[in-house]
Amino acid sequence: MEIKRVVPSGYCQGVIRAIRMVQDTVNKYPDKKIYVLGMIVHNRYIVDAFNNLGVITLEDPSRNKSELLDDIDDGVVVFTAHGISEAVKNKAIKKGLIVVDAACTYVLKNMALIKEYLNNDYDIIYIGKKKHPESVAALSISERIHLVTNNKDIDELDLTNANIMVTNQTTMSVFDTKEYINHIKEKYPEAVVLEEICDATRQRQKAVMDLKDADTLIIVGDPASNNTAQLTRLGKLNGIERVIQIESAADLKDIDLTGSEKIAVTSGASTPRYLTDNTINYLKTKNPEYLETDISQILK
Ligand code: SF4
Repeated sequence: MEIKRVVPSGYCQGVIRAIRMVQDTVNKYPDKKIYVLGMIVHNRYIVDAFNNLGVITLEDPSRNKSELLDDIDDGVVVFTAHGISEAVKNKAIKKGLIVVDAACTYVLKNMALIKEYLNNDYDIIYIGKKKHPESVAALSISERIHLVTNNKDIDELDLTNANIMVTNQTTMSVFDTKEYINHIKEKYPEAVVLEEICDATRQRQKAVMDLKDADTLIIVGDPASNNTAQLTRLGKLNGIERVIQIESAADLKDIDLTGSEKIAVTSGASTPRYLTDNTINYLKTKNPEYLETDISQILK
């Protein structure tokens, strides 16, 4: 059996920065309560590791970020790598909380572009995932931003503004985004297109599409991670026989890999390297020790 790590894979700069910001916050405010409004990055092991350091993650799919903020009376609030609405940020400041914004610079750049075009009287078509924190933050900027998640949404758009700008959530599939942009251009040929998939997402997707001889692809990542989900989809699109998404090596216990001769292993941009290393080491050695996750290793 041949085991190969896909390069590049795993942590991106935005995730590394967000994790460092929480670690720095823990060191800077040892006597204060520290909250994160949502998963700091989409990986539950990272959330658990911070929880062990006393960091409280507020996450409830039935409540929006503003409502979650109502649960915090004092201390520090950290906003996640996916970006946050200005209204929520201002509400936190008004409450007297210490605010730490870990939004990725790619996300911030995209938001700045959206604001610039809105100020120039454009409507924005935003290609993204419904309820993903990044798209929620982007849509909060204005009612003139229209979320589309598929071609049907595009067909149903009824924009009267001649000025239209098209952009997207940073972690979308390169292929889906291209398809939707083409569909939008058929309907609105004059639309200005600013495709904003981040470099990390683009490079990780390309590496999966470039795989030539793997018969099996294992993707390590959290079910909540959009860029992980896209790697899984692209593996299938690339025609790889078996495409398996796991959260950690422990999931391999129940998976029969008989017949898999050439296994490629990749991971989402928010997956700790330790989890991917354990997966590769288990595949190579079948040593059950690698099926265990030592949470103290996650932030190293
Ligand atoms: S995946 Fe891209 S947008 Fe998301 S944190 Fe990483 S670099 Fe930033």
